[in-house]
Amino acid sequence: MTKLTSPLARESQPVEATSTPSASPDAGLPGPAEIDVQRIAFRRCVASMQRAMLTAPLGWALAAWLCQELQALDLLLGWLALAAPGWALSLLLLAWVRRRGTDPQRHGLATAAAAVIDGLCWGAMTWCLMGADVMLNVCAGAMLCGVAAVNTSVYITRIQLFFCQGIAMWLPVLATALRDPMPPMAHGAALGLAVLLALQSFYLHDVGVRVVQGIRLQLANAALAAQLQQALGAMARQAVTDPLTGLPNRRALDTALAAQCALASREGRPCAVLMLDLDRFKAINDTHGHAVGDAVLRAFGQRLQAQLRPSDLCARYGGEEFVVLLSGTPFEPAEDVGERLRAAVHDAPLAQGIAATVSVGTAAHRPGDDPAALLARADAALYRAKRGGRNRVVNG
Ligand code: GH3
Ligand code: MG
Ligand code: MG
Repeated sequence: MTKLTSPLARESQPVEATSTPSASPDAGLPGPAEIDVQRIAFRRCVASMQRAMLTAPLGWALAAWLCQELQALDLLLGWLALAAPGWALSLLLLAWVRRRGTDPQRHGLATAAAAVIDGLCWGAMTWCLMGADVMLNVCAGAMLCGVAAVNTSVYITRIQLFFCQGIAMWLPVLATALRDPMPPMAHGAALGLAVLLALQSFYLHDVGVRVVQGIRLQLANAALAAQLQQALGAMARQAVTDPLTGLPNRRALDTALAAQCALASREGRPCAVLMLDLDRFKAINDTHGHAVGDAVLRAFGQRLQAQLRPSDLCARYGGEEFVVLLSGTPFEPAEDVGERLRAAVHDAPLAQGIAATVSVGTAAHRPGDDPAALLARADAALYRAKRGGRNRVVNG
């Protein structure tokens, strides 16, 4: 349909990737599903048609005003009386299509009907208005050319509908040209409009294909951006996660420890670290193999986590050494937590019936401590625990 004002169809509908990407025949890269592309192209066209049809009465008013002195009032009113119900019917059809979800396969016919009715409404103008006056005929012909020009943007994402509207608009012009007595220039108007519509269709087809390709690329970009976002999220998680135990790794610990030390120094919030090292773990590896050693490490990590609050951080520091960062309130003394952890490891085998013990060195934050100083004190305490006979907690 047509509009005489605001000719450009704005692409107001957001692009949604509604299905998984499929292979694009052009580039061999993952591309959007073709049904999504067609659906969006169709939906945009329906939205443009609706907008254009809402402005159509302005075009009629302009035509009626231009012709008021050249044509009988009853003919002008006759045309408007013909066009108004068609206009309402087209709008109703489009509203129905939009409410039903604009599926090009299921709603293509109803939309084509709306385009045809719109074309007939405009075409009826020639039947009612064209007559003996040459100026009148020129006005009517120019009006229809303007309508056809505006429709290029309205139907650009669904060129088939442009053909429907154009042919329906041209048929009444042809009928007028064949009418008896034939109005002056009616033949020329019918022929001129036919040539204009044919040329427009010819060139628009190519432009329409490119516009739909643009939608395809938009969808592909949206899908790629989502994939990229997912990959970045996964990489960010991997960067701070130990792959064997799934616990935070040393990088994550460094970040958290720096933040806690800063809080402790600035606001006096207590924090402490526990450094834990499985006793004689090498012997487990040597006796049962590395795969079993790995299973023991995983079970060790789970055992520790089960004893801690969600606000405490348990990280794999390296090898069979783990660090627990205690922070916040209420603050349980690090020795008590260390003792609980030691007992939890000691009390039951870790994995595949293999029992182990753990030595723990603790260090609470003191004014002036930075992360390195805090860890060094916990490490020294751990060393003393090992030297003291293992399976014990030493406060640093
Ligand atoms: P200690 O009581 O003095 O701590 O003795 P230990 O045997 O536990 O200490 P040591 O440092 O001699 O051995 C640590 C072992 O941990 C050696 C290394 O092969 C093993 N290890 C380190 N990382 C991994 C791992 O990811 N998987 C397995 N299975 N073993 C590991
Ligand atoms: Mg060890
Ligand atoms: Mg060790």
